[in-house]
Amino acid sequence: MGAIRFESLKMAWQHQPVEVKGPSEPASVFFAEKVFTREKMKEYIASDVLDKLFELMDSDQTLTRDIANSVAIGMKKWAMELGATHFTHWFQPLTGGTAEKHDSFFSLNKDGSPILEFSGDSLYQQEPDASSFPSGGIRNTFEARGYSAWDPSSPVFLVGDTLCIPTIFVSYTGVALDYKTPLLRSRAALCQAAREVCLYFDKTVKHVNINLGWEQEYFLVDEALYNARPDLMLTGRTLMGHDSAKNQQLEDHYFGAVPERVLAFMRDLEFEALRAGIPVRTRHNEVAPNQFEMAPIFEEVNLANDHNLLVMSIMERVAQRHHFRVLLHEKPYAGVNGSGKHCNWSISTDTGVNLLAPGKNPYQNLQFVTFLVNVLMAVQRHNGLLKASIVSATNAHRLGANEAPPAIISVFLGKQITEVLDKLEHASAEEGIIINAKKEMKLGVANIPEILLDNTDRNRTSPFAFTGNRFEFRAVGSSANCGAAMLALNAAVADQLMTFKAEVNERIEKGEPKERVLFDVIKKYIVACKAIRFDGNGYSDKWKQEAEKRGLDCETSAPLVIDRYLSPESIKMFAATRVLSEAELHSRCEVKWQTYTKKIQIESRVLGDLVVNHVLPAAKRYQTMLLQNVLTVKQVFRADEVASLNEQDCSIIRQIEQHSGKILAGVEKMTDARRTANHLPDERSKAIAYHDNVVPLMEEIREHADALEMIVDDEMWTLPKYRELLFIH
Ligand code: ADP
Ligand code: MG
Repeated sequence: MGAIRFESLKMAWQHQPVEVKGPSEPASVFFAEKVFTREKMKEYIASDVLDKLFELMDSDQTLTRDIANSVAIGMKKWAMELGATHFTHWFQPLTGGTAEKHDSFFSLNKDGSPILEFSGDSLYQQEPDASSFPSGGIRNTFEARGYSAWDPSSPVFLVGDTLCIPTIFVSYTGVALDYKTPLLRSRAALCQAAREVCLYFDKTVKHVNINLGWEQEYFLVDEALYNARPDLMLTGRTLMGHDSAKNQQLEDHYFGAVPERVLAFMRDLEFEALRAGIPVRTRHNEVAPNQFEMAPIFEEVNLANDHNLLVMSIMERVAQRHHFRVLLHEKPYAGVNGSGKHCNWSISTDTGVNLLAPGKNPYQNLQFVTFLVNVLMAVQRHNGLLKASIVSATNAHRLGANEAPPAIISVFLGKQITEVLDKLEHASAEEGIIINAKKEMKLGVANIPEILLDNTDRNRTSPFAFTGNRFEFRAVGSSANCGAAMLALNAAVADQLMTFKAEVNERIEKGEPKERVLFDVIKKYIVACKAIRFDGNGYSDKWKQEAEKRGLDCETSAPLVIDRYLSPESIKMFAATRVLSEAELHSRCEVKWQTYTKKIQIESRVLGDLVVNHVLPAAKRYQTMLLQNVLTVKQVFRADEVASLNEQDCSIIRQIEQHSGKILAGVEKMTDARRTANHLPDERSKAIAYHDNVVPLMEEIREHADALEMIVDDEMWTLPKYRELLFIH
């Protein structure tokens, strides 16, 4: 009776903070010690090759065969000195997470004698057995293999005894099978488009950077309790569980001290992350019990994304050392906040200017407004696509719940910026842009302070918020590859900047003065992008109606949101920026629908097992006990006393019967719904059927299971309860 649960509780209570061997030196000493940095390259790679390599790295090009061998020799030497025995191409398949296939340096010479080798070819290109990675039908059998190749803009690093090489993953025909390839393409597109627009304001800009600072939210749960919850183990979330009497109402977790055992985990995690070159800086409790956040200093978008993926796997490894499991799922528990991964995004120049920050001088403010307004236009034009870029079976639980951004993309600007845009909208050209004697242009209407007052005016309900010097894309899910969202955003903004430039240039070529044209076009955009601007409460029902009126995408069904990748505007935009071809978009959607279906299918099966093997037997045992009681009462008491004495037990017996009956019927219906869905001819209809027909049944079954949890004797309940999962650490 309840034995698994009590065993696991006993174990959980015994778990103590694990002493962290960690560093005695300051972080500056061990930062990036596991990374083959430029500094180390200088030590291990011949200088003539080095120049070429740095040139490739700086110009975002891929490694060339002629220097691959020399680079590989240096890399191997460095890695082996640190104890490496294996290497792997580390890539980002469309299923999420990262994939790796380890090969040993060990090999045999022709004469059979052993050698340790790592050739240029092994670095340059590998053929992971790709047939098991989804390609959405792109690779049919005759070209079943994809290949991976090092992305030199992300340095190689060591994990344990393995040299990890960040790679792109493409088919032999060059079709992207991963997230990194289109992210790199989107970076190239945006860098170029943004630089060209910068040239209106500053001719000295040579290069533009795209920056990402992610904030990773996660839950911790004791491993013993985790092991007693098959749903957590197999799906990453609880598929049932009644609310804990106390959850996050008091918000005491957010402000509370980090528990000792968790602190030990965090120290260990930060040590490992810093050694891997991830500049982590922030750690704190989050809103829900046992929920936490970590964030690094922002970095170039591709590197930042690699680092986020790496940190997610480091977290899982380190957590186990501390007898925790880390839950990266967007919604591990119903009734408390879910986890997101805010993506702080900005564009800056090699001249040191953040294009999304009000300038140090008024001249830069015109440039700032230009970029700001173009981002607004891009987000408005592609709001459906941006939602598609963050949607998944797991994130769907979080969006639209009263805690996270709604399933409508809008932009929060804050009072000051809104005022500036309003003034510009009503200004004349002469008022709007002023030119000084040196022919410099500046914003005439309003002075924007360098530091915005409402910088901290946090509107937590906005999925896409301007936060003073960057945009914060908050709708991204905690388990996601941020690359999906970043590549869509980069591409949309790049396309918008290209449109802007074309529009401006056309009129300049006709002889109109540059500043007049810039003013006109910016003003036109300010009017045109009003629909996307919303500073109000995103959780309210009124906003949903209002958003509908404004023509924003209000679809909430994940499989239908995925369609937005294939809208004519998306296809055109991705083609114009060369980020994804139409065939690649189709294949991505196939994979997304397939992944959606698989996730729900697994959840639905696990739920079926749980209710049949855990919930119903416990309920039955308790019911039997009550029935025996009822009989005993009959034997012991006078007939006129029996009815009232048995009243309460009989009522519970009936309730158990009712809930159990509903559960059994629900499981049967759910199995049928799955069977019907599985027979549908294409991935899209399958995903829709799972969404429309399977998910509602899961919710119905859960309701009855949770009701039983409230009724059944606590001692007989086999699954750790919410109050245990959420509060023990
Ligand atoms: P919050 O108060 O929202 O938690 P923080 O100030 O801690 O935000 O920063 C969150 C993330 O935003 C960090 O990763 C930080 O490096 C990043 N960030 C700060 N400035 C920028 C910027 N200009 N561009 C991109 N990311 C930035
Ligand atoms: Mg933030």
